[in-house]
Amino acid sequence: MNSIADRLHEIRLRIERAAEKAGRNPKTIRLIAVSKTKPVSLIREAVAAGVTDFGENYIQEAREKIPQVAGKVRWHFIGHLQKNKAKYAAALFEWVHTIDRIEIADALDRRAGMEGHQLKALIEVNVGKEATKSGVEEKELIPLVEHVSGLPNLSLKGLMVIPPITTDPHEAREYFIKTRRLAEQVDALHITGVSMEELSMGMTSDFEVAIEEGATMVRIGTAIFGPREMP
Ligand SMILES: *Cc1c(COP(=O)(O)O)cnc(C)c1O
Repeated sequence: MNSIADRLHEIRLRIERAAEKAGRNPKTIRLIAVSKTKPVSLIREAVAAGVTDFGENYIQEAREKIPQVAGKVRWHFIGHLQKNKAKYAAALFEWVHTIDRIEIADALDRRAGMEGHQLKALIEVNVGKEATKSGVEEKELIPLVEHVSGLPNLSLKGLMVIPPITTDPHEAREYFIKTRRLAEQVDALHITGVSMEELSMGMTSDFEVAIEEGATMVRIGTAIFGPREMP
């Protein structure tokens, strides 16, 4: 079996190739290693191999693992957030990718204020045809953006999407395109304090397609750490 360092090397090459194919600078794409369900020992291996950004989905797990990882590492919350966990999210994470309602934005803002720091925020959009649980509906996006723009401790940086699960990565493309277009629409409004510089999209099965469509953050778990035992 390949080491984490070998797998990372391979993924970085694939990121470079996808960027070049799309005429983009590979340096503008940030690799987020998704370490949910994986032990701290593997996270440390990834840190040693140069990974600087990690994603976690579950607050309880993050509370146990994050304090055990030394070094200059940025943590991204990419899971579904409950309001009563906002205080931990604001304390543990530099980025939250999954803001999808006013209630959560308000809770994070309040807690970030108490922590005395700015939280970098992405809004998760639901551009899927079928009803998925999370993400803001297209018609609710602008009102949510406007609301978040008024929160002093959240800094809105872009959008995040999780396309419906498919077997063909190319089926994800339309969702990535839709997300990019929504970001362009938000940008065109020139709302103070809002930037749409980040598009968090693409996972193990479809990150190259996401890069072709403008992703600036790819969230990759399985290709780095191997399959997870829990779904
Ligand atoms: C688990 C997860 C990932 C990583 O998925 P892989 O297919 O293992 O790369 C990315 N984004 C989110 C939101 C996730 O929950």
